[in-house]
Amino acid sequence: MANKFRIKCPSCGKVIDIESNTTCSCGSPLVLPEDGMIEMYRVGNPFGAAVGFGIYLNDIPMGHLANTGLVRIPVPYGHYKVHMTQGMSRRCKDQEFDVTPQNRIVYLKAHVNLGLFTNTVVIEQSTADQMPAK
Ligand SMILES: [Zn+2]
Repeated sequence: MANKFRIKCPSCGKVIDIESNTTCSCGSPLVLPEDGMIEMYRVGNPFGAAVGFGIYLNDIPMGHLANTGLVRIPVPYGHYKVHMTQGMSRRCKDQEFDVTPQNRIVYLKAHVNLGLFTNTVVIEQSTADQMPAK
C-alpha cells in the first residue's frame, strides 16, 4: 500500500488521500501536520464488506475506511475522539486519546460486533506490531 495520508482541505472541506504536501483542486495548499498521526486499520469481516466505515475525528467527517483498509491521518498534538459509523448504523464504541510528543502515533483497530438488530463498530487502541505490514 502506498504511503498515503488522509487530510481535510481547510478551505473547501474536501477529504483526500495525499502522499506529500500538495495543492487542493480548489487551489488551497494542503500541508501535512508533522506533530503526530492517527493510524486506523479495519479488521476484515465478510459481513458488510461492501460498506465502508464512516470516520469521524472530533465529530468531523474524514471519509471512509474500507474493509481491511488502512488510513493514516496526520494531526497536530491535541485531544482526539474517533467515532465510526457503518451504513445507517451510528452505534460505536468511540476511542478518546491524546496525541502528544510522548505519544505521537496512535494505532486504532476497528471491527464490527454483529448484533441482533444493530451492528456496533468497536474501536480499540492497538500497537504498531498489531498493524498490517506497510
Ligand atoms: Zn480544497
